[in-house]
Amino acid sequence: MRQHIDTIPVWDAFKTDCECPLCVLRETNENNYVQTFTGGSVMEPDVRVEVNMKGFCARHFRLMMKSEHRLGVALMAHTYLKQSMARLGQTNMAVQSVPVKGRLFSKKAPEAGVDLSALTDTCILCDRLNDTMKRYVYTAIHLWKKDSAFRYQLKNSKGLCLKHYAELLKAAPEQLSGQELATFTDELNETEMKNLARLEQEIEWFTLKFDHQNADKPWGNSRDALPRTVEKLRGRE
Ligand SMILES: [Zn+2]
Ligand SMILES: [Zn+2]
Repeated sequence: MRQHIDTIPVWDAFKTDCECPLCVLRETNENNYVQTFTGGSVMEPDVRVEVNMKGFCARHFRLMMKSEHRLGVALMAHTYLKQSMARLGQTNMAVQSVPVKGRLFSKKAPEAGVDLSALTDTCILCDRLNDTMKRYVYTAIHLWKKDSAFRYQLKNSKGLCLKHYAELLKAAPEQLSGQELATFTDELNETEMKNLARLEQEIEWFTLKFDHQNADKPWGNSRDALPRTVEKLRGRE
């Protein structure tokens, strides 16, 4: 797999004090893409075609609607609606023109149900973001392999959210093998388990602080343990 390697954002994210550096990267890039699509700059014709074809998921339409450029979002929504209507029309035509034996023009209900996922489950922004995140996962493993300072940084980090932890583990065999892969997996597992244990203590103390006997005791690191635990379990999105 040939990849464009952009190590600086990955380094910056892994130096951030957070529960998941890949979530930090995802959030930054998501915001950048939202700005790109709502920034009012002229879109390349091929991007415009892709926007009309794929549209945006609910989350990304919502994020874009919060921008100042609601007219631009409305124009894209209008075009995407018209395009969706045209494609729905074609689907309905295809369904209705199924020939029924002996009756030339009879309509027939589809036997397998109509699959509209190509219309309802697409988002150009999700596609862009997922591609970018795949590159960052690749880059993180690449850095671990080539740069001992990054290896140290990862080992002494607070780990990742479970989703991105799983993504790193899954992607590692594409770039590492043998003893190197075993070492990467061991180190990542150790860091992750150590930090899950840390967080378990922090969220427990958060719950115990509700007991009036603990009201005057210090919060320690537990004041924001709930959102951090949720982020660790499910990511930041
Ligand atoms: Zn994450
Ligand atoms: Zn999306």
